[in-house]
Amino acid sequence: MKFNTSLLHGGTQGSFGGDPHTGATLPPICFSSAFEQESAERLEQVFHNKAPGFSYTRIGNPTIEAFEKRMTVLEGGVASVACASGMAALFNAFANILQSGDEIVSSASLYGGSIDLLRDLEAFGITTHYVENNDIEAFKKATNEHTRIYFAETIGNPGLDVTDIQKLAAAAHEQGIPLLIDNTVATAFLVKPLSLGADIVVNSTSKYINGNSNSISGVITDSGKFKWNTERYPGMKEFAKFGPFAFTAKLRNGLFRNTGACLSPQNAFYNIIGMETLGLRMERACSNALALAEHIQKTYPTIKVNYPGLPDSHWHEIAEKQFPGYYGAILTLRTGSRESAFSLINALKLPLKVSNIGDTKTLVIHPESTISVHSTEEEKRTAGVFDDLVRVSVGIEDIEDIISDFTQAITQL
Ligand SMILES: *Cc1c(COP(=O)(O)O)cnc(C)c1O
Repeated sequence: MKFNTSLLHGGTQGSFGGDPHTGATLPPICFSSAFEQESAERLEQVFHNKAPGFSYTRIGNPTIEAFEKRMTVLEGGVASVACASGMAALFNAFANILQSGDEIVSSASLYGGSIDLLRDLEAFGITTHYVENNDIEAFKKATNEHTRIYFAETIGNPGLDVTDIQKLAAAAHEQGIPLLIDNTVATAFLVKPLSLGADIVVNSTSKYINGNSNSISGVITDSGKFKWNTERYPGMKEFAKFGPFAFTAKLRNGLFRNTGACLSPQNAFYNIIGMETLGLRMERACSNALALAEHIQKTYPTIKVNYPGLPDSHWHEIAEKQFPGYYGAILTLRTGSRESAFSLINALKLPLKVSNIGDTKTLVIHPESTISVHSTEEEKRTAGVFDDLVRVSVGIEDIEDIISDFTQAITQL
């Protein structure tokens, strides 16, 4: 199946294609905390992963499973675990692999919340080394005998640098390390990181997957291909018998259920509906973003536009190679000063001023004073967060309206 078809029909085996009992065309929302089994023996089997079935929604639920299956098809993995938020998904993905004394080598150009999370992990003896500009050689240099994960975002938020996933995966695998990719900003519409060698992909599905910004959620999808060396990853020992499902089995039988990170069935349902139009929305939002970036760059030379779709972007070459002729729907504008950045945001009438991306509507924010507020000056600099920078998450409005609103706002500066 091609991309848009898979969003509508992918993963329809089992519970997904609607409801086999009633013919409903969408999976019913199963609002039940617990699921009854016919006998004590059967319940025992379910608890021991020896029979299919559900027992308790914190561990699994039919509506959530339907969403997970579609995400697995979308990213081309073997299994997915849906979590209450993107941050819960990132924490669970890291903690499922790491233990005290382990180290992460990460791109410095990360979402502010992820930088905060990696700092929180230090209290548990897990340290992170940051690498600037997606420099693969620098990733290798920062690697030592304690390194257990490489981490990067496909498109850094809000640095908008593009990771060469194939090269970074090869570098990781040379050292026996898995590559974890946050694909939130790019989405599978631009690239499927697992198909380029990444081992685990995390999406904050609160953004483009949900599409309408009506709920928070996150998903971890495993490629099933990484060969866990149980000397280096002792926590995997017990789960090695699950083969390609080792990572997911460890997660679902451990941290995921013990941290209570489960998604609400209602939110899983919203995501199933929202993601049906992911391809259509991304096409429109990406072409709007390109048109807006080109227009501002051409018309207002004092404003510095950062967008991987512009030929002068440092990341244009890899973006062209890795993406299908679309470059994402986020761009940033450097206005010259913090005052100008604030004035621009205040003068815009159409975009919503919110700390979000991936809505159908155009959104703007000043990251330095908001989402990166807990970062140090050094962390902000290396993440590409400056005090004159405005981030725009371009929506699916008519481009004429977006351009005319930015025109009137920039003219006021
Ligand atoms: C929003 C975001 C997250 C966090 O996701 P939540 O669903 O808000 O918890 C993680 N990574 C990136 C790149 C994001 O944009």
